[in-house]
Amino acid sequence: MTAPSSPKRSDPPRVAVVGGGIAGLATAFELVDRAKRSGAEVDVVLFESAERAGGNIRTESADGYTSEWGPNGFLDNVPATLDLVERLGLEESLLPSGDGASDRFLFRSGRLHPLPMSPIDFLRSPVLSLPGRLRVFLEQFQKTGGGADESVFSFASRRIGKEAAAVLVDSMVSGVFAGDVRSLSLRSAFPKMFDMESTYGTLTKAMIHKMKEAKRKGTRVGSAGGFSGRLTSFRGGLATLIDTLEKSLGDRVRLRCAVGSLERKGERYTLLTEGGREEADAVVLAAPAWNASSIVGRLDGELSIELAAIRSAPVAVVCTAFDESSVGRPVEGFGFLVPRGEGLRILGALWTSSIFEGRAPAGKVLLRNMIGGAHDAGALELEDGPLLDAVLHDLRPVMDLHGEPEWVRIFRFSKGIPQYNVGHGARLEAIARRLKSLPGLFLAGNSYRGVAINACVEEAARTADAVLVHVGSLHDA
Ligand SMILES: Cc1cc2nc3c(=O)[nH]c(=O)nc-3n(C[C@H](O)[C@H](O)[C@H](O)COP(=O)(O)OP(=O)(O)OC[C@H]3O[C@@H](n4cnc5c(N)ncnc54)[C@H](O)[C@@H]3O)c2cc1C
Repeated sequence: MTAPSSPKRSDPPRVAVVGGGIAGLATAFELVDRAKRSGAEVDVVLFESAERAGGNIRTESADGYTSEWGPNGFLDNVPATLDLVERLGLEESLLPSGDGASDRFLFRSGRLHPLPMSPIDFLRSPVLSLPGRLRVFLEQFQKTGGGADESVFSFASRRIGKEAAAVLVDSMVSGVFAGDVRSLSLRSAFPKMFDMESTYGTLTKAMIHKMKEAKRKGTRVGSAGGFSGRLTSFRGGLATLIDTLEKSLGDRVRLRCAVGSLERKGERYTLLTEGGREEADAVVLAAPAWNASSIVGRLDGELSIELAAIRSAPVAVVCTAFDESSVGRPVEGFGFLVPRGEGLRILGALWTSSIFEGRAPAGKVLLRNMIGGAHDAGALELEDGPLLDAVLHDLRPVMDLHGEPEWVRIFRFSKGIPQYNVGHGARLEAIARRLKSLPGLFLAGNSYRGVAINACVEEAARTADAVLVHVGSLHDA
């Protein structure tokens, strides 16, 4: 990293971050922290349109329940968020998911099946037909795809067969992106999977390599569906991370201050906010792509069009709590996912009170159900009553529920999760070309290179480095 050195102007360079979700907060934090560590002076200001920071991340605690609006946690198998947690002094507040939460289930043919965790269990499991299971084992003999930008479904059908693609991979895609397996790009949405094929030729070889590596390092090996790591949160929910970041940034964070548009004069930018005009040497747009699109509309029409083309799937999270006597089915485990075509409208349910200790009062079961997604935008048009009915209609037989939920919370995201559809990679290249003619303008957040909290935090560090190089070069000029 090159931080600004020997400034030739009297004022320190000013960096404006637009958007106070995890991406914007972490970018602002990294800017301040990196500048401080290198002895450089940088004036950072963050504009957030809402009255609170956090974006999708929001924890609600009421009546003994703790529920998350958006993300439920982050995975501990990459260092990004854990490293941030350590620098914020939050390790003591971490809450890893319990050991019992490692069992995951899949809804198929009217009931839940445990997701097999070993090749032998998989061969015995009824999650796929016998030919479907055998086809998965033929993966090691399939040719590589040649690196084209193909859909997740096309890739998975080629490698592990159509049935596994439609059942196992479809449900995994619902769980992560609430997306359409036939539209999402393998290379953009699951780059690790893409790399596994291009590096090792087959997923089987890649998995064997990963397992050997994990054994050597003594780490946990991923389970079915390519997931690995432990879901991790904080005792007070994910809001702990947001509140601490916000506190560390102090009065650099300006809430209720939407940025409407951007202008460029010479090497500087002017942000038009609700409160007036703000100057900056560099701007990080960490608002979702559709918001960034309207902010840059007058600055660069082509960039604006590319950003607007990154669509998001709507999602609703319906949290329902029951007395444990009303839940006929055991709830030890993580929860279940539902492949499309199995007759249920919900995308899946997380058994929150089994995943994280202390999320529900003793004797109560908290279930977090997801509905909507790329296949079912109509679900978000339902009023709360019918939406809850739709969820309970599916949930009752699966979980053997009796009676009504004792506690309900509904959280809606009309533009919930960005969809990295086929063509996303080419779009990012087009965006990068436009940004070349706008030095000092940067994009960050879940619309581009990863929707997970970890991905947003990883990108924040990279963005902060690039910004500091830019403002440093301005001062050295
Ligand atoms: C239901 C759901 C469940 C999820 N589950 C998980 C999970 O378990 N684990 C995981 O890792 N990830 C999960 N995710 C994904 C993760 O939550 C998001 O990708 C991540 O929080 C996005 O952060 P962000 O900062 O990029 O965007 P956002 O959180 O959308 O923040 C963007 C911010 O920009 C602000 N803004 C917009 N326009 C302007 C403007 N003009 N001026 C100023 N501010 C503006 C917004 O108000 C918002 O606060 C989930 C997402 C959803 C919706």
